[in-house]
Amino acid sequence: MARNHWSHALASVVKDKKMCVEEDSRTVTIKDGYPKAKHHYLVLPTPVQTRGVASLDKTDVALVQHMLRRGEELADRLTAKEPSVKFHFGFHSIPSMVHLHMHMISQDFDSPKLKNKKHWNSFTTEFFLDAEEVIEQLKRDRKVTVNKQEAEDLLKQDLTCPRCKAVVSNLPRMKDHYARCKASP
Ligand code: AMP
Repeated sequence: MARNHWSHALASVVKDKKMCVEEDSRTVTIKDGYPKAKHHYLVLPTPVQTRGVASLDKTDVALVQHMLRRGEELADRLTAKEPSVKFHFGFHSIPSMVHLHMHMISQDFDSPKLKNKKHWNSFTTEFFLDAEEVIEQLKRDRKVTVNKQEAEDLLKQDLTCPRCKAVVSNLPRMKDHYARCKASP
């Protein structure tokens, strides 16, 4: 894919001061440009790396741990101001953007940018690989196994509430249901 293709955009976004939230010697944290929840950030290694979660191996454990720690520290600061916010940290099984990034996303999914079933399923099903589990898999198996067909099927599955597992017919109804659902996952 050519470097000016949209899927390469994160390499320039990390240099944009308006999008950059914080950085250290190994990572940069940016705002997600199309946030799928009230709080949505991406943590990337610096320099950026053209690879997805499926290419990680045991030598990447320390990097992913560091990315997670950076996300958790930011989440701690945000939840100090807004204690009810819950974050998940993880990777899409099949990323659309080519540079390695970890999502840090609040669990409200309350955003006009969350527009379709694929968006919903990419954050609420096992398509979203929890960062802690990625680290455990790398330590145990030396790699992260992504079954492409299974991952693509997860994106197409019926809209399901991650809290109570109710199946809801369309996204507006799902968002409405989810905002009121009190079940614990
Ligand atoms: P994924 O590759 O599926 O793990 O997710 C890529 C994330 O990058 C999505 O949440 C997008 O909203 C976000 N994104 C895509 N293009 C941009 C951009 N130009 N600036 C900031 N974030 C972006």
